Amino acid sequence: MYSTQPTASHFINGRYVEDISVARFDVIYPASWAVIAQIYAGTDHIIEQALSAAQAAQQDWAARSGTERGRVLRRAADLIRARNRELSVLETHDTGKPLSETLYADATSGADALEYFGGLAGNVTGEHIQLGEDWVYTRREALGICLGIGAWNYPTQIACWKAAPALACGNAMIFKPSETTPLCALKIAEILSEAGLPDGVFNVVQGQGDVGAALLQDPRINKVSLTGSVATGRKVYQSAAADLKQVTLELGGKSPLIIFEDADLDNAVGGAILANFYSSGQICSNGTRVFVHKAIKEAFLDRLSARLDQAVIGDPLDETTNFGPLVSDRQMQIVQGFIAQGISEGARLVCGGQRLERPGYYLAPTVFADVSDEMTIAREEIFGPVLSVLDFEDEADVVARANNTEYGLSAGVFTRDISRAHRVIGKLQAGSCFINSYNDAPVEAPFGGMKLSGIGRENSKNAIEHYSQLKSVYVRMGDVDAPF
Ligand code: NDP
Repeated sequence: MYSTQPTASHFINGRYVEDISVARFDVIYPASWAVIAQIYAGTDHIIEQALSAAQAAQQDWAARSGTERGRVLRRAADLIRARNRELSVLETHDTGKPLSETLYADATSGADALEYFGGLAGNVTGEHIQLGEDWVYTRREALGICLGIGAWNYPTQIACWKAAPALACGNAMIFKPSETTPLCALKIAEILSEAGLPDGVFNVVQGQGDVGAALLQDPRINKVSLTGSVATGRKVYQSAAADLKQVTLELGGKSPLIIFEDADLDNAVGGAILANFYSSGQICSNGTRVFVHKAIKEAFLDRLSARLDQAVIGDPLDETTNFGPLVSDRQMQIVQGFIAQGISEGARLVCGGQRLERPGYYLAPTVFADVSDEMTIAREEIFGPVLSVLDFEDEADVVARANNTEYGLSAGVFTRDISRAHRVIGKLQAGSCFINSYNDAPVEAPFGGMKLSGIGRENSKNAIEHYSQLKSVYVRMGDVDAPF
């Protein structure tokens, strides 16, 4: 019988471990409220076990050739692909996201990261710098033990996006999933182990923020990579500063999607749907401020409403469903609060807005029009299926308004005018941008934010910089010329 209850809560040193000296917490299936697993948060004893295991394993792992490390990661990628359906069903239970999404966007994206960084591992090299007779060579070395802390929206993908470059560079990792979605990272740990990863190189410790904070405070942790909110990012950055630990922060956003009057309307509507309703809107890079040129605004809204009517809302395990529930009751309350604020501040509710009368955290896809820049729904990250349409007429004006936010994660432009597309994208303050598309995240492309949306980049060759450090070695070939 299919069971979502893991063998134990934590995965340390190549095996499942449990410490039942604390209270258990329930893992809830967002589509039915059923309790699908019970997990114990990590205790001091568990945290110590994970740190000791990672410390004992890291140097031997780093001493292996990059090709050997890469082979393990690529084998894990193959195992993930072979078990994609099983892993996708688990991801759906963990998050509530429809299987029609998880089959294509989660385990497969994790496998891409392991395959890509597995391929790069043998190329994590230094360089030779000739200086006359003398020369310098550089070594690219591992950082040591990296701490990964995940958000709840993409539990498999986040674990893999952090583990793949960290392990490729010879680091060990301790990963703390969000307590809301603790199940998927354990499977990734199991699969890495089966692929031949030495015990202790990748460990999973469960718990809430306090467990992440306790791990981070330990001097044996050399780097932290967080995916989470700006508020948590600030705390993590502060804590890391005590020991000058390296950080990668993938934080929130309130990204602009600008649709010019010459855009292909159906593509623009499709882009706005991908930018707001995939994963029920629980995506950091979403383009939630949709600036639509006044000349096409009503046509855009008509087309958008018609397309939203076709959303198949229902059982996430039914592959015809393409819109599922929110992840938790807490997230439901947050999003409903923003919708109420949008209405009270005078935005026009075009569709949705209401909770659906069925078990699970289902909220109808929601569109607001006549949204102004000052409204709360245009300023704060909602992290739910709520799209806001703002009008504009002038290019310079819309660029200034798009940039008038503390965030800088993503931005998109829809237009048929290629000069305008590149001109506007060049002026937008965002790390991950799209022209006539939205929310594509291939592992080959750097991903991350400007301004309050983060520090560093995940994916691409660039991630190697964030999981390794350079040592330069000066080699003198002649005598040393000392002054005395
Ligand atoms: P949170 O910031 O609440 O939590 C993120 C993770 O940090 C969780 O595992 C959490 O544990 C942990 N945590 C909380 N406090 C601390 C602390 N003091 N020290 C160490 N760890 C801590 O984010 P959510 O999980 O609610 O995720 C939603 C947020 O994540 C949104 O803002 C979204 O934009 C952002 N996000 C960013 C992405 C990006 O790539 N830029 C991608 C996906 C999401 P626990 O929750 O178990 O208590």
